[in-house]
Amino acid sequence: QCSSCHEARAALRRPRSGQALCGPCFCTAFEAEVLHTVLAGRLLPPGAVVAVGASGGKDSTVLAHVLRELAPRLGVSLRLVAVDEGIGGYRDAALAAVRRQAARWDLPLTVVAYADLFGGWTMDAVARSTAGTGRSRACCTFCGVLRRRALEEGARLVGATHIVTGHNADDMAETVLMNFLRGDAGRLARGGGLGSRGEGGALPRCRPLQLASQKEVVLYAHFRRLDYFSEECVYAPEAFRGHARDLLKLLEAARPTAALDLVHSAERLALAPAARPPPPGA
Ligand code: SF4
Repeated sequence: QCSSCHEARAALRRPRSGQALCGPCFCTAFEAEVLHTVLAGRLLPPGAVVAVGASGGKDSTVLAHVLRELAPRLGVSLRLVAVDEGIGGYRDAALAAVRRQAARWDLPLTVVAYADLFGGWTMDAVARSTAGTGRSRACCTFCGVLRRRALEEGARLVGATHIVTGHNADDMAETVLMNFLRGDAGRLARGGGLGSRGEGGALPRCRPLQLASQKEVVLYAHFRRLDYFSEECVYAPEAFRGHARDLLKLLEAARPTAALDLVHSAERLALAPAARPPPPGA
């Protein structure tokens, strides 16, 4: 029996707390937790025009859906901004999912393309140019930098005051692990907190799903019957992130709260002044 409404049959056990809930009570609890994250962290002030980084994947789909539910209470308006990295056989299908979401939820959508922003360079062109140079495994490293810039450009184009992205607790824990494994103190210093206030002229960014586990994001998409694109990018198998993901799974098997513990560890890290990076540019 659902431990919240005490009427319906429980459909799941929450991965971290073990609480048994029916689908509707789980979705209500999930939305309330995201609302709490946004309000407690003062992430989105009333009146904010919010650019949602939409990839068509489960995380950004859930984020857009939840924020659309919460928008009247938060007093914010939403714009979907999708980035076309120029990855043949992958991005077109993902963008089709974003277009369906925009139409169904009646949200304005803007697509910005690497090719237009970066002098004709697409991710496929970057991959070709780095193949055989010892840098071919680093597609995601290039893409991460370009994507951040592209989302910023897209957000400015639609008059946004804030940017939100769909990173969940597992994504953030993987990032923390990667930064530790690479000894990247600069990124570790930047990685804590729920977002950035917009240093160096950049728009403020935040991650309202940062405290939600990947499993619960998938469960929310399932119970709300959300249509999303679930195939992996063709360059993802080469990424170093995959090793951090495998490591995190092993850690979670021994300690179910490992992902969230890592996220909180990064928030509480205090680095020596010499290890702090200069503020990022716009
Ligand atoms: Fe870009 Fe890597 Fe993501 Fe593919 S997996 S879209 S290359 S960051």
